[in-house]
This record gives sequence, C-alpha cells and structure tokens, in this order.
Amino acid sequence: INKIGVFTSGGDSPGMNAAVRSVVRACAYHNIECVGIYRGYEGMIDGDFITMDARSVKGIINKGGTILKSARSKEFRTKEGRAKAHEQLVKAGIDALVVIGGDGSFTGAMIFNQEYGFPVMGIPGTIDNDIFGTSHTLGYDTALNTVVEAIDKIRDTASSHNRLFFVEVMGRDVGHIALNVGIGAGAEEILIPEEDLGLDRLLDSLRRSKQSGKSSSIVVVAEGDKIGKSVFELKDYVDENMSEYEVRVSVLGHMQRGGAPSCFDRVLASRMGVKAVECLLEGKSNFMVGLNNDIIDITPFDQAVKGKSKINMELLRVSDIMSI
Ligand code: ATP
Repeated sequence: INKIGVFTSGGDSPGMNAAVRSVVRACAYHNIECVGIYRGYEGMIDGDFITMDARSVKGIINKGGTILKSARSKEFRTKEGRAKAHEQLVKAGIDALVVIGGDGSFTGAMIFNQEYGFPVMGIPGTIDNDIFGTSHTLGYDTALNTVVEAIDKIRDTASSHNRLFFVEVMGRDVGHIALNVGIGAGAEEILIPEEDLGLDRLLDSLRRSKQSGKSSSIVVVAEGDKIGKSVFELKDYVDENMSEYEVRVSVLGHMQRGGAPSCFDRVLASRMGVKAVECLLEGKSNFMVGLNNDIIDITPFDQAVKGKSKINMELLRVSDIMSI
C-alpha cells in the first residue's frame, strides 16, 4: 500500500478531525502518502481530493465538525456511481481507504470492497453510539458532556420557576445519550427507545417528586422513546392529567453534534486512526476499529453493521434509585 485516502461520511461528529489528523500522521510515520477526500462518497465520485502531509493537519485536533466536510451520496448507492468513484481513486493512485462514519458509510464501503477488492478500514464516528463492536463511537463522549451542560442550564431556570421540563435529546434507535445524560444531570425520569416505562409510571413518578418537595423536574426523552410520544405530546398529556406543574419543552437538536471534542474523544480518535492505518499495512480490510475494555480492536464490517448496540440495563436501575 502506497497511498491511503481518508474521508468523513454521513452525520458529522466531534472527533472526526482528530481522526483525520491521526490517519494522516500515521501515514507520514509509516512513509506512505495520504489523500483527503472531500464530502465523503460524493467527493470520491467527483475526484475532489487533497494531498495531506503531517503539517497539513495542524490545529484541528480541537475542532468540531470535519474539515473534509461530510455528505450523503445517492449516486454512490448505484453501481455506476461506485464505478466512477473507483475510476477516480485509481487515477489518483489511491490504493486503500479509511472511512470515518456510521453504519451506512460502512455498508457502502463493504459493497465497494466486494465489487473492486479495494482495501478499506472504518472508524466509527457518530454521537449516538449506536454501532456494534465498540463501547464508544467518536463524538459520543463529547455529546454527553455538551448535553449535560445544556440540561444543567435548563435546570437553573426550571428550579427558579418550579417548572417541569421535557428535554428531547438525540437517539432514534438507542438510548445511550438519554440514559447517561439523564443520570449525569439528575433527571427525574428518562424515556428511551429500548423500554416502555408507560405513561402511568411517568405521572406517578412526577407526583412523587412533587410530594417529596422537589422544586423542579427534568424528564430526558430520547427522540425514539418507546412510549411513542413527542416531547410536545408528553407536555400536553401532563397538562391534561396533572395540575401541579407548569410544563415546558426543550428540543436540543443539532447543537448536540457540535463543539470541541472532549479529551476522551481526541485520544480515542488518535488511537483509532493509528490502528486503521496499521491494519491496512498488515493487509487487513473490511473491519471497523473499536474500543473494548480500553483495548483498540477490530470487528468485521458485516458484524458491526448487523449487530445491535445495547444499553447497560444497570444504568436504568441506578437512574431509578437516584430519582427517589
Ligand atoms: P449516521 O449514522 O451519522 O447517519 P451513516 O454513515 O450511517 O452516518 P448514511 O447516510 O446512512 O450515514 O450513509 C452515508 C453514505 O454511505 C450514504 O449517503 C451513501 O452514499 C453510503 N451508503 C449507505 N448505504 C449504502 C449502500 N447500501 N450502498 C452504497 N452506499 C451506501
């Protein structure tokens, strides 16, 4: 392998830049060339490439987002689109790839590998932590800190006015963010996609909170919570069934994806980038690098894509006990 192409794909997450930096510097360390591919698969099809050396990635380890930009490419989902991408890579002399993204990006990489035998390694970059084969995806730790900070601020205003807040956080399929920030910010209840706690239980819990003298209540709701109600519908439900609270809603949205990566995510990105490059140099392909018990290891793409990332049920119990 002489020249590795690196790109970011799908939703961006804090730590992607640190991972790009790591891939570029690991290539320099091993005396091979590195090329940045702009806008994910879209830029690959267009041949939107930039040569990167060790110095070209200075000052980005602390930056959120991705300097290489990210995109979702419809064209890469077609055989013709992938043929164009392959042509561009060959023309530029790129002979291996590191993709930083989520499971969709890995699926694309897997199909590309099947069609052209192109060596590829993946780095999981998404704040949702919804990828099997790693305890942490890049950006997840930063997002937890960002969201906890935001809920702390909501708590200040909630307790000044004796209010109940429903706070919606990201998490369509998994409740990692909701569960952890819920405990971290001292939420009274946490609603997640994995468990249906039921509306009766929610009302009971809120009544108990009020009776026990709490001056504010925060309920953290994952986007895909299993009760199946949006934060606005939950507010209406509580308004109809309880007069004790003045209810407000806050949807945190895309701010959760931004910001400077935490030290944890910077270190994780640095470790993952080195591993991805070294795996390619050892002739490995079609794996995602991951963190498990503080060891960087690898999981085949098909398992990472098919497997399900599970929440830690112990956290649910702890949350229950904490909200007494
Ligand atoms: P996130 O989880 O943050 O959304 P992701 O990597 O899962 O990230 P997707 O939009 O699902 O994001 O995938 C990124 C890109 O990967 C797509 O825009 C498409 O170009 C490519 N891709 C996804 N699935 C396939 C597929 N089945 N075949 C070919 N390419 C694919």
